[in-house]
Amino acid sequence: MKTVFDVVVIGGGIIGSSVAFNLAKENMNVALFEAGAIGSKATGAAAGMLGAHSEADDLELFYPFARESQQAYHILQAEVQSLTGLDFDMKAGGIFKLAYSETEKQELAGALALETMKWVEAAEVKRALPGVAENIIGAAYIEDDVNIMPAQASRAMCKGVQALGGTIFENTSVVALSQSGSGYEVKTTQGAFTAQKVVVANGVWSSTLFKEAGLSHELFPIKGEILSLSSDQVTLKHTIFHNGSYIVPRRDGSFVVGSTMTAHDWSDYPTVANIEKIIAKAKTMFPDVAKMKIESAWAGLRPQTFDTKPFIGQHPEQDGIFFATGHSRNGVLLAPVTGMMIRDLMLGRAVNQNWVEAFKVGRGNPVLI
Ligand SMILES: Cc1cc2nc3c(=O)[nH]c(=O)nc-3n(C[C@H](O)[C@H](O)[C@H](O)COP(=O)(O)OP(=O)(O)OC[C@H]3O[C@@H](n4cnc5c(N)ncnc54)[C@H](O)[C@@H]3O)c2cc1C
Repeated sequence: MKTVFDVVVIGGGIIGSSVAFNLAKENMNVALFEAGAIGSKATGAAAGMLGAHSEADDLELFYPFARESQQAYHILQAEVQSLTGLDFDMKAGGIFKLAYSETEKQELAGALALETMKWVEAAEVKRALPGVAENIIGAAYIEDDVNIMPAQASRAMCKGVQALGGTIFENTSVVALSQSGSGYEVKTTQGAFTAQKVVVANGVWSSTLFKEAGLSHELFPIKGEILSLSSDQVTLKHTIFHNGSYIVPRRDGSFVVGSTMTAHDWSDYPTVANIEKIIAKAKTMFPDVAKMKIESAWAGLRPQTFDTKPFIGQHPEQDGIFFATGHSRNGVLLAPVTGMMIRDLMLGRAVNQNWVEAFKVGRGNPVLI
């Protein structure tokens, strides 16, 4: 078994998988350590919407970052597919963001200024979405919106890493991190490994490794509960969204309906009360949800930072440690751009300085004395 690598990536969610794939493409000798199965935590829980438009109220920073990532998905999927034969189960079809009042239409004004989004009157929405709530006044429509199956995308990227000569260790937790010579020793449940560089990408569990690296950042969970439905009778071709609730038709024919946002709740199961609330809300958007079959329900922990922005960058004092974590409700969307940004920072290539500054690990005075 190989124990010496150029780079070790910790965490096999969508973020770690994208980072590892982007680095392996640069001929780096990469190992990824995942405590359980690839894509099994927040990533496996996600709806898989690539909702850049939801960040339209921050046209300076977050929207361009998110939009670049959304567009990069198409190239990333093609690259992975050519190496592995696997795709991300990407589904086109667009999204309708419903408005029930003039006030809600006004709230969409910022997003409607985007060239990708247009206002559609109620009658037209009802033609496109037979069965949608009668009392809408219209919707903002984004035609190029797509969704993916996030766990499948992670697994496909990890297969891509292996095809490029990298190593994926599942069921292997990283338990300690220390400087060793010019690089790092990474202690795991399967023994010790060394690497010149380390990327911490283990989602909401990153706090321990921040501490191992001498930093005080504490991530916390925003728990999300969600369920999957199916139906032979009901047709719904487009994603419907209102006030953080959504119904997403996936390429496998299922409908993903979500979701809750509960801060600081570390439990990883859905409760009856919250699933009832999600279904009740979904019925107000699309009453035929009541006729659908419940397939399954689950929960995941979105990794949240103190200021809601992710950490993407280098340790403020150590050259060899990078962090890619804390993507909260947007980790699936932001995985490609995060992987590319870590790659470019590691290789000393040009990176948008607004992004470097906004997502830098040194913000919030984290250095432990
Ligand atoms: C209900 C729900 C719906 C969502 N919908 C969307 C959506 O539609 N679009 C979107 O963009 N985002 C969505 N998200 C958010 C998205 O899921 C997260 O932002 C994203 O999955 C975070 O990815 P990650 O790789 O950082 O974390 P994770 O997927 O949690 O991966 C971290 C991995 O690290 C591993 N790990 C932990 N500790 C160690 C260790 N010591 N050693 C080795 N491995 C370790 C874990 O086992 C885990 O697999 C949703 C989230 C939820 C819960």
